[in-house]
Amino acid sequence: MESFDVAIIGSGPGGYVAAIRCAQLGMKTALIEKYSTLGGTCLNVGCIPSKALLDSSEHFHNAVHNFKEHGIDTGKVSPNLKQMIARKDEVVSQTCNGVKFLMDKNKVTTFEGLGSFVDSTTIDIKGNDGKSQQIKSKNIIIATGSKPNFFPGMEPDKKRIITSTEALNLKEIPKKMIVIGGGVIGLELGSVYGRLGSQIEVVEFAPNIIPTMDETMSKELTRILKKEGFKFHLEHKVQKVVNKGKSVELTVLNKKNEEVKLEADYCLVAVGRKPFTEGLGFEKAGVKLNEKGQVEVNDHLQTNVPNIYAIGDVVRGAMLAHKAEEEGVFVAELLAGQRPHLDYNLVPGVVYTWPEVAAVGKTEQELKDAGVEIKIGSFPIKALGRARASMDTAGVIKIIADKNTDEVLGVHMIGPRVADLIMEAVVAMEYRASAEDIARICHPHPTYSEGVKEAALDATGKRALHI
Ligand code: FAD
Ligand code: NAD
Repeated sequence: MESFDVAIIGSGPGGYVAAIRCAQLGMKTALIEKYSTLGGTCLNVGCIPSKALLDSSEHFHNAVHNFKEHGIDTGKVSPNLKQMIARKDEVVSQTCNGVKFLMDKNKVTTFEGLGSFVDSTTIDIKGNDGKSQQIKSKNIIIATGSKPNFFPGMEPDKKRIITSTEALNLKEIPKKMIVIGGGVIGLELGSVYGRLGSQIEVVEFAPNIIPTMDETMSKELTRILKKEGFKFHLEHKVQKVVNKGKSVELTVLNKKNEEVKLEADYCLVAVGRKPFTEGLGFEKAGVKLNEKGQVEVNDHLQTNVPNIYAIGDVVRGAMLAHKAEEEGVFVAELLAGQRPHLDYNLVPGVVYTWPEVAAVGKTEQELKDAGVEIKIGSFPIKALGRARASMDTAGVIKIIADKNTDEVLGVHMIGPRVADLIMEAVVAMEYRASAEDIARICHPHPTYSEGVKEAALDATGKRALHI
């Protein structure tokens, strides 16, 4: 039986990054993946394909709505969904092949098959041909990720009642799509089809969309998406979703608890994801799960079995690719005897709608609830010269600082390219910058980044310059 220093089950951004770092640190490393392509949810059916379709649909939207004003006349522009999906597939394939190349380059041994525990140091790998082989490993990292969640009455049939995976591969542009869940997936994939001409209706349980983000962002995004044609049913409870052949019918309870029927040709269920732990034989290794079904880990991402670790979506915390990656590096360095550090407060979150939403640190409400005395600076995107030049004027940048020390505690942005812009705030907060520090940094003109400086000036004595 072949032996390894470390074996990783699952090749998503958590698993494959852990494998690279383990190999870099001199460990003999195995990576086990049940699918034929590496990269996990993120590369195959998550981050990468969704962004590919978001970019294509954004080009289409601009061609229809914005080219004329920029002085570009086109003939009739029409979407070609088949080509959009084919381009997306090509992007996915290139990216997954890139991970295979990285494994080979780093001399990581990859196994295709379903990994399950035989005991705490032995893994059985069952190939798609039904044949099994076993490997031994001193340490094991569980990186098996997550899968779409749903509640009773909204079980996806993957035909008309679909999850994000099917929504990335539709054969037709829906005339109308109802999205259950006004979170990240619902708004991103709703945006893709909304831009291509579908009527999008969002049924959300909470009083706000993107309810875990700062309320200012949620309100601004609601306003912008409504202008784009989205319809929101907030504080609505879904009772039942029925596939009626060529359409779906939803029974929902509105705010007054009255029953309302909604109809569409597709219903996208996007109410969160749940940890993927099936078929792993945890009982044979003695690994414990918590009450949420996640693999239970301590601050070192170690399970109750000392040589077994777990990272990414399968453990507590934000279900984000970059969080999984950092945890992969963390465990690899820990196994190599280093003392890594990971600050979960500084994991940024992004929603890739247009405009984008991005955040790091605490929200205004979280700080108020914790009794922290704060001051807030904000600056509207429309006051930036760069934004007027590009005609991307919607949005706002909000910086929250400690009232007494001026330390930046949270930064929230909605606007063009804020997915990239948020990194200035992450770096600033990593070095525990004050709002004054950001306000005194020279920012290039004309850029969207000037909005960060202006918001910091506003936070420190209401001295923004261009408003
Ligand atoms: P995963 O990527 O889920 O990988 C786990 C892997 O383990 C899978 O390949 C699975 O097949 C394999 N596996 C499971 N069990 C076994 C077994 N027993 N044996 C062998 N293999 C096994 N996050 C972002 O940060 N940014 C985004 O823009 C973003 N967009 C997203 C869009 C969509 C539509 C979705 C669904 C998710 C998105 N996410 C995004 C979330 C992101 O994909 C996840 O947070 C991330 O993939 C988690 O990484 P992971 O390594 O923990 O698990
Ligand atoms: P989410 O947690 O972002 O949003 C789920 C939404 O559904 C919430 O607004 C919630 O209030 C609502 N909801 C829950 N139960 C409901 C019900 N019964 N009826 C109506 N609404 C209900 O989850 P998601 O959008 O499914 O995404 C799953 C995970 O994938 C997230 O954790 C997210 O971090 C990750 N993801 C990230 C990105 C990104 O980083 N850009 C993109 C896509 C997905």
